[in-house]
Amino acid sequence: MFDELIARDRAVNWHPYSQMKTTQHIPIVSGKGAYLYAADGKAYLDAVSSWWVTIHGHAHPYIAERVYQQLLSLEQVIFAGFTHEPAIELGERLLKLLPSSQEKVFYSDNGSTAVEVALKMCIQYAHNQGQQKRKILAFKNSYHGDTFGAMSVSERGVWTAPFQDLLFDVLFIDPPSADNLASLTELIRKEAADIACFIYEPLVQGAGGMLMHRPEDLSALMKVCREEGVLLIQDEVFVGFGRTGTLFATDQLTEQPDVMCFSKGLTGGTMAMGITSCSEQLYQAFYQDEKRKAFFHGHSFTASPIACAASLASMDLLLKEDTLRNIQRIAKQHAAFATRLASNPGVEQVRQQGTILAFDWKAGETSYFNNIQVILYQRFMDRGIVLRPLGNTVYILPPYCISETALAGIYEAVLEELARWK
Ligand SMILES: *Cc1c(COP(=O)(O)O)cnc(C)c1O
Repeated sequence: MFDELIARDRAVNWHPYSQMKTTQHIPIVSGKGAYLYAADGKAYLDAVSSWWVTIHGHAHPYIAERVYQQLLSLEQVIFAGFTHEPAIELGERLLKLLPSSQEKVFYSDNGSTAVEVALKMCIQYAHNQGQQKRKILAFKNSYHGDTFGAMSVSERGVWTAPFQDLLFDVLFIDPPSADNLASLTELIRKEAADIACFIYEPLVQGAGGMLMHRPEDLSALMKVCREEGVLLIQDEVFVGFGRTGTLFATDQLTEQPDVMCFSKGLTGGTMAMGITSCSEQLYQAFYQDEKRKAFFHGHSFTASPIACAASLASMDLLLKEDTLRNIQRIAKQHAAFATRLASNPGVEQVRQQGTILAFDWKAGETSYFNNIQVILYQRFMDRGIVLRPLGNTVYILPPYCISETALAGIYEAVLEELARWK
């Protein structure tokens, strides 16, 4: 069955981020907890939470049951002119967990659309007040998604090269540190009048290589933007829902954003859904008698009742004491392993934020560098562990349900592979 599925897949499917000519796609038939099971019976420990979305483990029965019940009562209704309780309850419950600045939620389908919505909100916010602010501020090495607006505010590279001329102008700045705060402040004060918004991944820049900055430095930068009237879009698509050790990255910051983006862990990783939350002040610029001041944006599946039900179920699980304890336990295990790793000559830049542990794999004597990603991925797959390095950056990002023993097993595998690497 294994080979047959691979052949049928090759005949029809085009996979994301894959050079189809050279990549293999393993057929998975089921998942349970932190494990995925392939069609040949092999078990894989999912150490990357299936692209950072699976927070409670695979095929969680509680989420499955809630989704099933929702499917039996209301599976879909157009969200313009209609509403439903799952969307109301999700808005109420999410906003309670967010900073007091967040007062409304707008639903979409994924992280990229949550970002598109945020950008359009901020640009139209200025437009609705008769202003034109065209510049957008973003971090170097940022990643906010693959649609055109999201691509525009993301780091430019080989992936975006074919579209370069079609992306809008963005002012890219270094993430804040004690050393550059003064120069960043100067730049923002100079450009502020023309800046519609600043979009950033708080604390951890995920796809850019799990790069981390200090909460106090980001708070200081946010404060400058607030003083200068630059709207803040905090993209918590990756870091939200417990990833950084707190429920949201925002819980480690002293300043509040105007807009926030969520997806990935939002439904516990079970369904596609995005949310953009915003402040009352922003909302009020659209809340007018004039129809043309409304926000003309929507998707067929906006506020899908079943995705809302999955999110509510995931939130129940996330707020359970067991889950919160697991998040702290993973953070502690990671911290202890980070200390061990720091003295290993094969790695550098060991860094950690909550349940995210990352380090850079040194190339070694041979010129493996360009192939580190491919080689390491395969070596860990052979061991039944899914780790998907970003270049030479290896990161461990498990679902919160992973057992202490299973996580320790990943650490041991990393140490063995380091010892083997010469
Ligand atoms: C993954 C990601 C996105 C894009 O989300 P998709 O659901 O993949 O479109 C946006 N922002 C951040 C920070 C992300 O990590």
